[in-house]
Amino acid sequence: MTDSPRERVARVQEAMAAAAARAGRSPEEVRLVAVSKTFPAAAIEAVHREGVADFGENRVQEAEEKAPRLPDAIRWHLVGHLQGNKAARAVRRFAWIHSIDSPELARRVERAAAEAGRTVDGLVQVDLAGEETKFGLAPEALPALLAEAARFGALRLRGLMLLPPFQADPEEVRPFFVRLRRLAESLQGQGLLGAAGRVELSMGMSHDYRVAVEEGATIVRVGTAIFGGRG
Ligand SMILES: *Cc1c(COP(=O)(O)O)cnc(C)c1O
Repeated sequence: MTDSPRERVARVQEAMAAAAARAGRSPEEVRLVAVSKTFPAAAIEAVHREGVADFGENRVQEAEEKAPRLPDAIRWHLVGHLQGNKAARAVRRFAWIHSIDSPELARRVERAAAEAGRTVDGLVQVDLAGEETKFGLAPEALPALLAEAARFGALRLRGLMLLPPFQADPEEVRPFFVRLRRLAESLQGQGLLGAAGRVELSMGMSHDYRVAVEEGATIVRVGTAIFGGRG
């Protein structure tokens, strides 16, 4: 691709705004997280200069390597699986952890953040497809985790995250987005989500973020549409 970071960022932001408008939502309700895994610090800096403040990485070590060379104003999001033994490192580097996928991990992140004197925003990664091979918590396990996390002081569980099975046609993913939104609404209705303000829904990637915004995403995680091909 020969287009510039400026053109790619503008194109994604315009498409997000158009999708929000189609759903009667305000574009300010949706945050763009540019997923920068595998891309060098220079590419991240170029996108940051276009006004993008949130960047996502899927490995703790990769973020630790790149972040010190980049502006402090960047907010880092961990979007990939987190091993419990890396919780202490994760809470030092990331403002948001999208991949809380077990009660044990939630407790370890809570403990690590408390020990580091930090607060971390977290999302519970949900497995809606029953995929044994993938990370994510079964919907039935959410109420117990959220009830326990209501007593946490350092990890704030703000909503849900979805990494659906890959479908070439984004319309095939729409039912998963709808299910995640309804699940969040139900949990909010039970008083288990939303105590800290609005409920966050992290869903939608390069090929399906428009559909995700139409269905209520508050955070989209967009990599290749922002940075170009991953090669
Ligand atoms: C890589 C990744 C993304 C972004 O994927 P693209 O197809 O490049 O937009 C989003 N979420 C997670 C969890 C990822 O690992």
